[in-house]
Amino acid sequence: MSASTSIEGSRIAATVTAVREHFASGATRPLTARIRHLHALRAMLTENEPAFEAALWSDLHKSPAEAQLTELNVVVAEINHTLRHLRRWARPKRGPVPLALMPGRARLVSEPLGVVLVIAPWNYPVQLLLNPLVGALAAGNAAVLKPSELAPATASLIGRLVPRYFPDGAVRTVEGGVPEATELLAQRFDHIVFTGSGTVGRIVLRAAAAHLTPVTLELGGKSPVWCDDDDLPAVARRLAWAKFTNAGQTCVAPDYVLTTPDRVPALVGALKAAIAELWGADPRASQEYGRIVTEQQFDRLVGYLPGTDVVIGGDHDRGERYLAPTVVTLPDGGPPAVGPRAAHPVLREEIFGPILPIVPVASAEEAVEVINAWDKPLALYVFTSSPRTRRLFERQTSSGAVVHQAALVHAAATGLPFGGVGPSGMGAYHGIHSWRSFSHLKPVLTKPLWLDTLGLAQPPFTARGVRLIRRLMRHG
Ligand code: NAD
Repeated sequence: MSASTSIEGSRIAATVTAVREHFASGATRPLTARIRHLHALRAMLTENEPAFEAALWSDLHKSPAEAQLTELNVVVAEINHTLRHLRRWARPKRGPVPLALMPGRARLVSEPLGVVLVIAPWNYPVQLLLNPLVGALAAGNAAVLKPSELAPATASLIGRLVPRYFPDGAVRTVEGGVPEATELLAQRFDHIVFTGSGTVGRIVLRAAAAHLTPVTLELGGKSPVWCDDDDLPAVARRLAWAKFTNAGQTCVAPDYVLTTPDRVPALVGALKAAIAELWGADPRASQEYGRIVTEQQFDRLVGYLPGTDVVIGGDHDRGERYLAPTVVTLPDGGPPAVGPRAAHPVLREEIFGPILPIVPVASAEEAVEVINAWDKPLALYVFTSSPRTRRLFERQTSSGAVVHQAALVHAAATGLPFGGVGPSGMGAYHGIHSWRSFSHLKPVLTKPLWLDTLGLAQPPFTARGVRLIRRLMRHG
C-alpha cells in the first residue's frame, strides 16, 4: 500500500469512527432529532434545486423537469410520507404473550441499528443515494454516504452540502471510486444499502460477511415486458417513456419486449410514433433526451447493434455520447432465449441503455417459459386486457414487482416495498419498508415475580405438572 493510499485509508476510517461516535452519543435517537434530520435533508434538496438540476444536467444531460420528476420530488415525497407516519411507526406496539407465559406482558420496540452505509450508482445519483438515507435517519441511525464517482458533479455537490445541512456530523460523505469504496467496506457498519450491479453486489456481500453486517442489495437485471393489448398507441407511449427516460439507464427500465409475431409490425409503428411525440423527430436536439454516462458505456451499447435489425433509431455520436432511442429485432435463430443461452449479447446481458429488443413468442405461456428460464427480474411489466393473462404472469413468474399496463411507476409508490428477488436483489425499502430495514424490532418481555408459574417448567417435574404445562404450551 502506498503512503498516499494509507493516508486516504486512515481518513476514511476516521470518518466512520466519527460517525460511530456520534451515533454512540445517542444524539440521533430522539424522535425530535430524527424529525430535525428529515427537515434538514428536505431543506438541502429544496433550497438547492437549481444546483441539483445543473449537476444532473452536467452528469447525464438530465433536463430540469426530469430531474424534478425522477430525482428531487421522489426524495421529497419520501421525506413527507415518512414525516407523516413516523410517530406511529416509532410507537412501541403491544406484543402477544402465550398462555404458558402468563402472567406477563410484551412490547415491540424499534431501535436504530447504528451506522448505515449507503453506496449509490450514477444513473439516479440523487434519488438512489438520498432515498435510503431518509429511512436510515427516520429510524434513528447515523449514516455514511458514498455517491458514484461516475456522476461527479452530483457527488461533489452532495459532498459540499452535507456538512452544511448536517453540521452535527450525523451524516458524512466519502467521495471517490473503487479504492475509496473498498476502504469503506473494510470498516464495520451496522447496515449497508448498496444499489448497483450484481458483480459489485457480490463484493459488497463478501465484505459485509466479515463483520456480519446485514445488507440491502438493490441490483439490476433484464426486466421483461409482455404485450398482447390491442391499444398499441397507448402501450407504446408508456413503454417508450419508461424505456428511453434517462436514455434507458434505469434499473427498472423495460429491458426487452415479448409479444406475438403478428403484433410486431404494429408495435414498431406505434413505438416510432410515440418516440417522435415524446422527443421530436430528432431526439438529439431535444432538451429532454439524456446522454450515455461514459464513453465506455456508450461503446458497450453501440456494440450491441451489429447482428440486430435496427427498426427504429440506431444513430449515434460518440463525441456527444448520444445514442438515439433504438428498437431492434433479431434475425430468426431458433427458439427465443434470454440469458446466458441467448444467441445475441443484447439478450444475454442487462442492456441499461436506449436499445429495446422485441422478441416474438407464440403465446403468453411461452413468454412465461422464456422469463422463467433465467434469473428472477427486478420488475415485470404486463400490457394485456385479459385478467387471465395477468394472473398467469403473477402466479407463474417471480420478480421484484409486477406492474400492469404501465412501467417504472412502482418506483414512485412510496408505500410499496421496492427491491428485487434472487439475483435482482435482497431486502427492500421505501416508506415503512425502509423503517423495517433500518430498525431492529426488539421484543421486551416482562414477567412479574409475584406468581411463580415458571415453577411448572422447572425440575423436579411431576406427572401432573408436565401434563398441565403441555396443555398450556400446545394451546399457543
Ligand atoms: P456499479 O455496481 O458499477 O457501481 C455502484 C457503486 O459501487 C458505485 O458507487 C461504485 O463506486 C461502487 N463500486 C464499483 N466497483 C466497486 C468495487 N469493486 N468495490 C466496491 N464498490 C464498488 O453500478 P453502476 O454502473 O453505478 O449502476 C448500474 C447497475 O446498477 C445496473 O446493473 C443497474 O441495474 C443497477 N441499479 C439498480 C437499481 C435498483 O434500485 N435495484 C437502481 C439503479 C441501478
